[in-house]
Amino acid sequence: MSHRRSLRFAQTTCPICGSKEVARDDHKGDLLCTNCGHIIVRTETRAVGKFDIAQHLKRNGKMNFANLQKATGASEDKLLGVLYSMVEMGYLSEIQGVYSLTKKGQRWYRQRLGQEWGY
Ligand SMILES: [Zn+2]
Repeated sequence: MSHRRSLRFAQTTCPICGSKEVARDDHKGDLLCTNCGHIIVRTETRAVGKFDIAQHLKRNGKMNFANLQKATGASEDKLLGVLYSMVEMGYLSEIQGVYSLTKKGQRWYRQRLGQEWGY
């Protein structure tokens, strides 16, 4: 077996430069932005829920990745994963690394809020 590093493009966006050219390094499991060289290290730290993210965005409006990470205290890879799935579901829109709730996302948030309060 060779020790060749294999890079696959990951389904994610670089939190620093917003590039879609983020590759997964299978050898180490890290994500690497091939545009700016930022390494998204996969660490086992705090996860974050969709509801938390929606709440912060509802309160603060548009937020970039660094602000969201600070607000939620989540690890980079976990936060990226949740953000990506929320964009995928149409709850968030992401423009140049800045995230905001879509109409659909706001509707979802209000529904969830109602459930939390037991309506
Ligand atoms: Zn980048």
